[in-house]
Amino acid sequence: MAEEDFYKVLGVEKTASAQDIKKAYRKLALKYHPDRNPNNKEAEEKFRQVSEAYEVLSDPDKRAKYDQFGHDAFRQSMEGGTYRTNFDPFDVFREVFGGGGGGVFSDFFGGMGGAARQRDFNEPENGSDIRAEIEVSLEDAAKGVSKTIRYNRMVECPDCHGSGSKSGKGKKACPKCGGTGQVHMRQGPISFSQPCPDCHGTGAVVEDPCPKCSGTGRIAERTELRVDIPAGVYTGARLRKSGMGNAGINGGEYGDLYIVIYVKPNDTFEREDDDLYCEVEVKFTLAALGGQIEINTITGKKTALKVPAGTQAGTLLRLKGQGMPNLRGGAAGDLYVKINVEVPKKLTDPQRKALEEFAKLCGDDDNSGKQPFYKKFF
Ligand SMILES: [Zn+2]
Ligand SMILES: [Zn+2]
Repeated sequence: MAEEDFYKVLGVEKTASAQDIKKAYRKLALKYHPDRNPNNKEAEEKFRQVSEAYEVLSDPDKRAKYDQFGHDAFRQSMEGGTYRTNFDPFDVFREVFGGGGGGVFSDFFGGMGGAARQRDFNEPENGSDIRAEIEVSLEDAAKGVSKTIRYNRMVECPDCHGSGSKSGKGKKACPKCGGTGQVHMRQGPISFSQPCPDCHGTGAVVEDPCPKCSGTGRIAERTELRVDIPAGVYTGARLRKSGMGNAGINGGEYGDLYIVIYVKPNDTFEREDDDLYCEVEVKFTLAALGGQIEINTITGKKTALKVPAGTQAGTLLRLKGQGMPNLRGGAAGDLYVKINVEVPKKLTDPQRKALEEFAKLCGDDDNSGKQPFYKKFF
């Protein structure tokens, strides 16, 4: 049988571009596809021919050989007269139109015959993650704390072990919609599709639904979990609890639980990264003479802080390593103490006398209309 020229089969010129060849094939393949031409031997043969022609002309190497030797280029290595015994025009079709099976074509034309590719409704699907928030005090963030959280999640149904069916048979394609999840309705000349009422658009039904989970395979559960919050956490830090999220479907893995930390503001300490800031009041005599004060750190420990003689109001003194611990195990932050100087509001007579004496010694006893020393406000 004389074989028709591949270019003629596709109706393109010998100089046609790869794109033209593909376009021509798409058009003809749709026209002659057996799903559209039931019991039509002629169309079937045409479909095979265009697929064969495309298979060769879409491959630059094969096309070059074909241009040089014609059909003989491929005949040499073959037994019998046919081009290729195991050649499947549907493979070519699937490759060009995409998708995994013959169902591609059915999808295109609303399922005209042909075996629709069956989705596997029992394929495992992993569960989703859950996000929870925990509020901690700055003190707890500094020391680390163990907390119990309670939250709702989906867990595998204990009765059916997640299959959703009493017998464990699992899901099957919904008979009403054939597993597509869509049903086609016709109203006069207009046809439209809508979610299938039997399977609620999922395409799957359970024949003998498990009564405990109504066939879903999962049930809601209040979960209690003890969480160790490490020292040094900050607002926005996330802790992951693997497998503590929602159950998967059809035996898929559990999702994770993400715990997001919120550290509440503290009345005494201001935090900046791992450093802490606080303010203390000292008597003006202490600031002038120098001395030692006791500081309560964030961990509740008492630490001595030396105030040098002549400390000015507003001075920041540093306590190294007395800030927040570092979450990643690095060096702890520092505690900065701002010194405020307290001036006595009331003086007893002996106190006044002593201060006046002191002022005299400094030559500061005449305070009438003295020119002060100016400084910028900030
Ligand atoms: Zn169940
Ligand atoms: Zn359905």
